[in-house]
Amino acid sequence: MSTFDPELKARLEAIREQGLLRELRRVDSPQGQRIRIGGRELINFSSNDYLGLANHPALKEAASKAVMEFGAGAGASRLICGSLAPFHELEETLAAFKGTEAALTFSTGYATAVGTITALLGKDDIIIVDKLVHASIVDAAKLSGAKLRVFAHNDLNDLEDILRWAAKRSSPQTPNPRPQTLIVTESIFSMDGDAAPLREILALKEKYGAWLMVDEAHATGLYGPHRRGLAEQLGVSDRIEIQMGTLGKALGASGGYICGSRPLVDFLVNRARSFIFSTAPVPAAASAATAAIQLVQSSEGQSQSELLWKRAEQLSAGTRSTASPTLTEKIESAVERVPTSAIPSPIVPLILGDESAAVAAATQLRDQGLFVPAIRYPTVARGSARLRITLTAAHSNDDIGALVSALSQIVNRNS
Ligand SMILES: *Cc1c(COP(=O)(O)O)cnc(C)c1O
Repeated sequence: MSTFDPELKARLEAIREQGLLRELRRVDSPQGQRIRIGGRELINFSSNDYLGLANHPALKEAASKAVMEFGAGAGASRLICGSLAPFHELEETLAAFKGTEAALTFSTGYATAVGTITALLGKDDIIIVDKLVHASIVDAAKLSGAKLRVFAHNDLNDLEDILRWAAKRSSPQTPNPRPQTLIVTESIFSMDGDAAPLREILALKEKYGAWLMVDEAHATGLYGPHRRGLAEQLGVSDRIEIQMGTLGKALGASGGYICGSRPLVDFLVNRARSFIFSTAPVPAAASAATAAIQLVQSSEGQSQSELLWKRAEQLSAGTRSTASPTLTEKIESAVERVPTSAIPSPIVPLILGDESAAVAAATQLRDQGLFVPAIRYPTVARGSARLRITLTAAHSNDDIGALVSALSQIVNRNS
């Protein structure tokens, strides 16, 4: 008999022994502030659906309409015959939303990172990434063959040291294409909820003649006067070469995007392999995303984002009023980390360290009707396992109250 299954079972056992085994949990309801799992209804603090759009009537209606008009599937890649009107509408809407010349969408954010970075860079180039960037960017960097350098999280001195080294290395005499240096960071970090110092990173990239790509996966739809993202809030959008994001988080749909110049988009259409060699997404996803961007820009989008920040403020105030100094300290240090304003983050990590402690805490919360995921290696570093709380505009004041009281029990037990 083949050694295949026994080998995989042994590997799975090793993963289990480290407290790192992961399993899928079937959800029998739409995404929302409450979800049904295993016959029980749980308050959901795990979703990136920050504005409560994934199950919003406007998105559902746009998706259904696209199905009726354009069918269920796209039939081919965009370059063959799958470039259906909903994708073009979405890209026009995105470019107008972000204030860029052009936009290109991909089937996922993951495919966006992989397609874009591998198209732009090759083995003579250098890619410099923040230590905490998303796996899609790390995978893309490796696949590109470029030299990968990692700077300590949000550490500008470390970044500058690497940029200085990179500037010495690239010689202007090298023929076409000239070696380039690309810096990649997230704007709001996915597992820590803190913000990158984009202004300072831009000053460095301009000083050293590098390019910058910013992944706004957890900021699009939330930050800035038009909710375009943290780059808008900091007034730096037009100095970033490559603005990336996903349509699957605050925008409540599915897919990924690049916003930038016309040459960038034209180049990606020609060179991004995850775009070229993949069937176009379902048109319903594009139409739902278009509806989401319109909604985010409307007064409803504004009130939903204000509601989200109110919930974050309530979480912070709620923890201050508990008798648990440890919880207050942990939550305070997490929610006040967007450095450039008083605006908190919807992502609040409660770092417990030990993998099994995080899993036990998540189980305990589930028993109390709260769904908060334990995040472990490889999503975060070993020994930094955590509860990752995500707040949404759909949560109620009572939901936050239930969360605070359950968390303070856990923190008191663990400290
Ligand atoms: C989720 C995420 C992605 C991937 O986007 P998907 O649309 O889910 O594939 C990329 N970058 C960051 C920072 C993310 O959090």
